[in-house]
Amino acid sequence: MAEHFDIAIVGGGIIGASLANHLVTVNAGRLRIALIESRATETAMSSFASGKAKSPKDFNSRVVALSAASQAQLQALEVWQEISPHACPYREMEVWDEEGTGSIHFDCADIHEPALGYIVENHVVVQALFQRLKGFANVHVLDATVTGFTSPENADTAEEGAEAPAVLNRLTLDNNHSISADLVVAADGARSQLRQWMAFDTREWDYDHTAIVTTVTTSQPHRHTAWQCFSVDGPVAFLPLHDEFHCSIVWSLKTSVAEQKLLLDDEAFCRSLTQALQARLGPVVATNTRMSFPLRQRHSKRYVKDGLVLLGDAAHTVHPLAGQGANLGLYDVDALAKEIARACSRQLAVNDASVLHRFERQRMPHNLMAMATLEGFKQLFGTDNLALRWMRNTGMSFLNRQPLIKNQLAKIASGKFI
Ligand SMILES: Cc1cc2nc3c(=O)[nH]c(=O)nc-3n(C[C@H](O)[C@H](O)[C@H](O)COP(=O)(O)OP(=O)(O)OC[C@H]3O[C@@H](n4cnc5c(N)ncnc54)[C@H](O)[C@@H]3O)c2cc1C
Repeated sequence: MAEHFDIAIVGGGIIGASLANHLVTVNAGRLRIALIESRATETAMSSFASGKAKSPKDFNSRVVALSAASQAQLQALEVWQEISPHACPYREMEVWDEEGTGSIHFDCADIHEPALGYIVENHVVVQALFQRLKGFANVHVLDATVTGFTSPENADTAEEGAEAPAVLNRLTLDNNHSISADLVVAADGARSQLRQWMAFDTREWDYDHTAIVTTVTTSQPHRHTAWQCFSVDGPVAFLPLHDEFHCSIVWSLKTSVAEQKLLLDDEAFCRSLTQALQARLGPVVATNTRMSFPLRQRHSKRYVKDGLVLLGDAAHTVHPLAGQGANLGLYDVDALAKEIARACSRQLAVNDASVLHRFERQRMPHNLMAMATLEGFKQLFGTDNLALRWMRNTGMSFLNRQPLIKNQLAKIASGKFI
């Protein structure tokens, strides 16, 4: 007989692990929660650089830019003190157009915040979240891969004449076990198997862009500033890390161009990168191994089906140009956790359709709006059209002289107006 849980969360990335942390204290800690992660042991054992870094290899190349709202959420979960020594606050942001005169500058002082956001390695956040879970007996971390899912909707119909069995959400694991749960949360990332097994309709398209991600050493300090330059091939971002001569880079390029850059030796790659950022931080002097991610925008038309909820990248993936992917997922987590807490306080089941639909109604418009805005930016900055290029250069410089609008934009990016 399968072990039963109130809530099973599939995927222990930032999103799944954050949700587990939110839920452990809900209903006075009486919810039984399973967090199933293929790489749970690896996550718990990962180590990371502290103090002064000597080389780009001291950092893991996959980072997230956490907004002030996401940082506040992690602080409320009491994990920020673990993350903070490894996070770099960025206080300013410089955005400009490679070909023109347009530029815009944001400063946290203008919106009376200590930072515009924080850059931190993905695994630092995940490990801190896993660490905290150890203190709670009602959460069970299962180091396993989910290989199958049966829900009341996709279960085989009972034999004719026989009484229909009560079918639960059942997850099959690769260790020959299975578990059942009232509510299953799919936080299994952009290529979510659960989303596919449950045949959620999605709207998706290729950007024909690939992101090259790595860590580099620069010859000048980053000055706690996020640097982003737009070119026709795509944007390059230098995101400051907690050592002042190291940045994480996200270079989104047309796929054919990215393939060429990936073939360069380290020295030629550093030269090319220096050029792409117009040497704002002097020459790039060293690089870590390069990783590449094909970029695809995807949005599931529903987030909820029969006791199953899609969360984070399983529900939506966006272009990394504005560093909003994990933030949107964390806002989803906050909304779902509040709905589940509300359901418990009203003696409603955690999989009650009204509870899940309230979550979907709150999050879908916000996610769609964010995706449309990012797509607009991507189109505007990826264009060869002379008129549009003139407009964006003039527009950026105009915006830079409008403190009220600019500060509103900075507040939106920091998650202050969710
Ligand atoms: C190049 C790039 C740069 C980015 N930069 C930023 C940024 O600066 N800021 C930002 O906010 N976002 C950024 N993002 C997006 C961000 O990384 C994602 O939005 C975020 O990590 C999504 O978290 P998640 O937990 O939903 O998914 P994931 O991080 O993908 O986690 C999913 C987890 O599920 C597990 N899993 C999958 N299937 C199963 C299964 N069947 N059984 C058990 N476990 C399973 C996986 O092992 C994994 O740990 C970037 C993305 C890319 C590609």
